[in-house]
Amino acid sequence: MTTKTKRFILPESEIPTQWYNIQADMPNKPMPLLNPATHEALKAEDLFPIFNEECARQELDQTHAWIDIPEEVRDMYKYYRSTPLVRAYGLEKALDTPAHIYFKNESVSPVGSHKLNSALAQAYYCKKEGTTNVTTETGAGQWGTALAYACSVFGLELAVYMVKISYEQKPYRRSLMQTFGAQVTASPSMSTRAGKDILTRDPQCNGSLGTAISEAIELARTTPHCKYALGSVMNHVALHQTIIGLEAEKQMEMAGEYPDKVIACFGGGSNFSGIAFPFMRHNLQDGRTTEFIAAEPASCPKLTRGKFEYDFGDESGYTPLLPMYTLGHNFMPANIHAGGLRYHGAGVIISQLMKDGYLHGVDIQQTESFRAGVLFAQAEGIVPAPESCHAIAATVQEALKCKENGEQKVLLFNLSGHGLIDMASYDRYLAGDLVDYAPSDSDIEKFLADVEPLQ
Ligand SMILES: *Cc1c(COP(=O)(O)O)cnc(C)c1O
Repeated sequence: MTTKTKRFILPESEIPTQWYNIQADMPNKPMPLLNPATHEALKAEDLFPIFNEECARQELDQTHAWIDIPEEVRDMYKYYRSTPLVRAYGLEKALDTPAHIYFKNESVSPVGSHKLNSALAQAYYCKKEGTTNVTTETGAGQWGTALAYACSVFGLELAVYMVKISYEQKPYRRSLMQTFGAQVTASPSMSTRAGKDILTRDPQCNGSLGTAISEAIELARTTPHCKYALGSVMNHVALHQTIIGLEAEKQMEMAGEYPDKVIACFGGGSNFSGIAFPFMRHNLQDGRTTEFIAAEPASCPKLTRGKFEYDFGDESGYTPLLPMYTLGHNFMPANIHAGGLRYHGAGVIISQLMKDGYLHGVDIQQTESFRAGVLFAQAEGIVPAPESCHAIAATVQEALKCKENGEQKVLLFNLSGHGLIDMASYDRYLAGDLVDYAPSDSDIEKFLADVEPLQ
């Protein structure tokens, strides 16, 4: 085996043809989603009015561990997959660490992030089921961009509600979505009841993913042949993202190593699930003891400071009640630059796995994340997305621990996206304008008071 290889790439014939559904292998299955009015467990049919039917079925599938990737989606995956697994020699050297650091480079997708892995699948299923219009929300704009491209590939109209603070901070993401043919509205907007309600309470509201989700769901419910698509949090999104870890598993084999620690940044959990679940399968089934670390922003600490409860996925309470680690659906995160991580809750599967001790969270402050991102850019030549900087910061922490203890651990992190459209955020960091922020205990208690207690 060569130890000098920099990038490990799978030939097209080796790209996995199935996604991995970890629900089938979980010792404690996720608790049911509840109808907020009746508190009855939801069936797949209950989700059909909002989601395409195939994704609704995947959402609640607790039996099939392997799900075929449709051929049309596999054809599109070939446009950018496999993504490289890269040995971060430059970063290892910069840190002077004995750790072996690898990263999976999802930033090479045409839209610059991992989000396309699920966008293509969701757009394909919508098209196949006769949908003409799709609606969604986007934070930093990564999901909206991915879905805009996927909808243009499969011939669907897309309306995007973009969190207002990002709409203003990231004008080029808006242009990208428009270039791919999507219609983009800043959220909260006056075009929905949910948006109007929020603006009436707080005219200066910067928006949040929770608010934008409410607006998109309202549009889906009131427009014929229109489905809603979500870029994170949901089980079917985690499922589609496992292509990342399934490839990485084969590529780590090519490298002749197996990760001791798998690390990803954490918004709603999709890129974390994607890289982690295929490896976690071996903890669940084969007694492996790989450690899984979810790097969340200190300003939005649902894993480390949230509570496991039934809560809504959106601000207005349009979604089912989800059993998840949450800060409360009314939690308004600070305006940090990693817009994709400003979400109050964690996905249902992740939350159960976290409760059962299979992963843990770590809080990263904004300035530490950018410091790590700049170090990585100088060492590896790739400018990471502000979200991905959190994973890099957590990896740097682990690599420095290895240095202190003289341990040669194998670290694998997911580079969920590049930051070339986030340079305004880097500008502010480089100018020394960014501040750290973490909510007080009383803030967290206040928002958690609105959350449904678990029976
Ligand atoms: C959306 C996004 C995230 C956060 O979402 P997850 O669902 O937690 O993965 C992280 N990184 C990038 C680049 C993103 O676009």
